[in-house]
Amino acid sequence: MPNCIACNSPTFQLRFSLQDQYDDHYRLLKCESCDCHYLDPRPTEAQLNRAYDDSYYGEGEKKFSAFVEKILNHFRSAKAKKVAGKLSKDSRFLDIGCGDGEFLSQLSKQADFELYGLEIPGKAAERAIERTEFELIIGDLASTSFPSQHFDCISLIHVFEHLPNPTESIEIISKILKSGGRLIIEQPNIESWQARLFKDKWLHLDPPRHLNLMGPKALKKMLKQHGFQCVSESYFSPQFSPFGVQQSLLNLIFKKREVLYEHLKGNKEYVKSYSAFNLFMQKLFHWLTFPLFVMTDLIASIFRKGGTMKMEFSKSEM
Ligand SMILES: [Zn+2]
Repeated sequence: MPNCIACNSPTFQLRFSLQDQYDDHYRLLKCESCDCHYLDPRPTEAQLNRAYDDSYYGEGEKKFSAFVEKILNHFRSAKAKKVAGKLSKDSRFLDIGCGDGEFLSQLSKQADFELYGLEIPGKAAERAIERTEFELIIGDLASTSFPSQHFDCISLIHVFEHLPNPTESIEIISKILKSGGRLIIEQPNIESWQARLFKDKWLHLDPPRHLNLMGPKALKKMLKQHGFQCVSESYFSPQFSPFGVQQSLLNLIFKKREVLYEHLKGNKEYVKSYSAFNLFMQKLFHWLTFPLFVMTDLIASIFRKGGTMKMEFSKSEM
């Protein structure tokens, strides 16, 4: 039986079947016990290795083109300012799944923090290693050996949903975070309107990489069991949510999923069956309708149904 990835319960509801970019098929199941969504069958190591090959991290020096990276850096900088504003100036900070380290780099501009980034081996880690603003640890969370009560703040920005063992990961995070320390989790919102509307075509299902997807209630409940209280939540993300709607709409039209997204990352092999004109029109659609879908996400976020959830938790004082 396909037991839940988070709580190991054997009882589930079938949400729908889906297909990934490599034509492998899965079912999305929702655990009846903890409400976590997970893939069945669980992707194999070979399937995951293929899904995290160099094309995942973008073909160029960065994940996206210079223009797109510039826009993304604007969002990362705003995020860093917001996070830094809540921390004391000598805070020790760990970003789990730091990618190329751009967020930590932005954070280093805010104050004299002691910064650490954790990233699995791959192209993103190779980019991050060049940086001097933080200490990079290459590996996964289970292989680290940080002392107990070590960090003031830990972040997982679009990373938690990739974890193959969410419960074990939270146990480790709870151990290495100081009492009263902050945990920041930002991830796609499986309970959003866009997730409900597009079902298996939703961009942010990102099969087979997103192994666990919890809605706001499920995540809060799980973290509460580990001594965390939610101190803030927001559901508006112009960085992630409008593109979620746009790519999902395109997924309804085209046979292959995530064509525009792969095109923006420079994945020529994946989009080779689409003409330059077709790809240009997809890009044009993206730029022209962007303000519209920022507006729809803003409306959705008022009802806590935006495409992205940003939650901050405080670890209970022992
Ligand atoms: Zn469960």
